[in-house]
This record gives sequence, C-alpha cells and structure tokens, in this order.
Amino acid sequence: MMSDFSPHRARKRFGQNFLVDQNIINGIIDAIDPIAGQHIVEIGPGQAALTRKLIHAVGSIDAIEIDRDLVARLTHEFPVEKLRVHQADAMEFDFSTLPSPLRVVGNLPYNISTPILFRLCEYEDRISDMTFMLQKEVVERMAAAAGDDARGRLSVMLQYRFKVEKRFDVPPTAFKPVPAVDSSIVRLTPLGSARLRPKDEILFARIVNEAFSQRRKMLRKSLAKWVTADGWKTIGVAPTARAEELTCEAFVAISDWAGVHRNAL
Ligand code: SAM
Repeated sequence: MMSDFSPHRARKRFGQNFLVDQNIINGIIDAIDPIAGQHIVEIGPGQAALTRKLIHAVGSIDAIEIDRDLVARLTHEFPVEKLRVHQADAMEFDFSTLPSPLRVVGNLPYNISTPILFRLCEYEDRISDMTFMLQKEVVERMAAAAGDDARGRLSVMLQYRFKVEKRFDVPPTAFKPVPAVDSSIVRLTPLGSARLRPKDEILFARIVNEAFSQRRKMLRKSLAKWVTADGWKTIGVAPTARAEELTCEAFVAISDWAGVHRNAL
C-alpha cells in the first residue's frame, strides 16, 4: 500500500496531524457507526487512517482533500469505485453535488474548523449527521449549555439547528506529528422539524454576534440598539442577564421582537 511513494512530510499549513493510534481510530469508527450503503463524505482523509475503515464498512465513500500529494496517494491506493477523491478546499466544495442524506465525517484541520462548521450549516437539510474530531476547547464551546462559561456564539449558532454531543477526548499522543492541544470527538445531528425558526435568520445571527462580542456586558447595554426597556418585559428576558446565560429560545425571542420593532427604535 502506497509503496511507490516516499514518506509524506506533514504540512503545517494544512493542519496535518495524522492519527496513528489504532485504538483511537477504532473508537472514532465506532462513534461514527458506519453502515453499508450510507452516503459518507470525509473531509481531509489524509493518509486514510479513517478512510480505510469507512470504506471497509460501507463499500464506497467520497472524500475531499486539499493536498495534491495526498490525493495522488489516495487514488493510487483505492480504486474509484471505493473512493471518489475530490481534490478541493472543503471551504469551497459544493456539498449539494453529493447524494443525500449525507453523513459528514472528518478529523478536521484545526486552522479552519469553525469556518467549516458554519459553511456546513448551509447544507443542513441534506445532512443526516456529522462526526468530527476537533480541538477539545472548540468542542466544549460547541456543546456549552446556557450558563456555562464556555458558552459563546458558536454554541448558540450550532445548537439552534443541531443536537451537539461531545463523545470522548483524544490525547495528543494519538497523532503524528503530536499536536500542542487535546482533541475531542463531537456528533452534530440536525434537529429537522424540531429546529428553532427565527423569523429573520440574518438578524438572529447578527444579534447573537453582537451580544457575545460584548459578553461581559449586560444585555440592556450590548443589545441597546435592538431592544427597549419595555421590550425586555415583553420578551421575558432579564435585561441584566449576560449573553452566556441565554438559551437559544431566548435569542430567538429577542431577534423576533427586534425584527418587528426595528423601524420604531
Ligand atoms: N483524516 C486524517 C487522519 O485522521 O489521520 C488526516 C487528518 S489531518 C488533521 C487534516 C487533513 O485535512 C489533512 O489531510 C489535510 O491535508 C486536509 N485539509 C486541510 N485543509 C483542508 C481543506 N481546506 N479542505 C480539504 N482538506 C483539507
């Protein structure tokens, strides 16, 4: 396998830390729980640590890899009936060209993990679930409940669309080269019809952003532009609260109220 190639030298700019610990690799495959016939796309297959086992379980998968040297190795190792490799930047890839319902998996390059999550939100209706390895601290932010210190814009923007579940931690020693940070596995499942529907999603995103960009301030200050003193009473949220204390439902109530009253302020 891959014998025609000299050893690949990990590229920092592509966030390349390759999984080498077989127990951890098996644990991630168990967490994904791939079943024959499912449509799976892997972001950043790298040297195929997960890819090999995913193909074994489901028969064939798609994968998006930016590094052309790794693409050459992957196409050499796997016939196209088993692995369709798209040499592309996952940030620009059109996921609607793949069959749905789609399962998205990957040990994501840490340098672009948050933008990729936001990008994948655009394909929420086509995705059945996503299982990723990310920096532990990012996973804690993604999963943080209202009132947790780690709660931020990412928590709210993901949790109003997805069930976010942290699965387990992965130590730096599971990778080569060894990264400076701990990692965790997280599963995101679209909430479908149970998902919250802000009346204006752009306004909702803007209000969440503004509330967290001044997270130490009380809402009556950080969102003064959007909500009046009477408004807070109607919405039923304390104007003295801080962004991290709010549920997604509360942010929807604030943005729906602000949408109706924006011209009157
Ligand atoms: N899946 C492999 C593993 O677990 O050992 C590799 C994981 S490594 C952390 C991240 C992989 O994503 C690398 O193969 C890297 O080349 C690829 N990558 C980095 N940026 C990318 C991008 N923008 N689009 C697609 N792949 C990318």
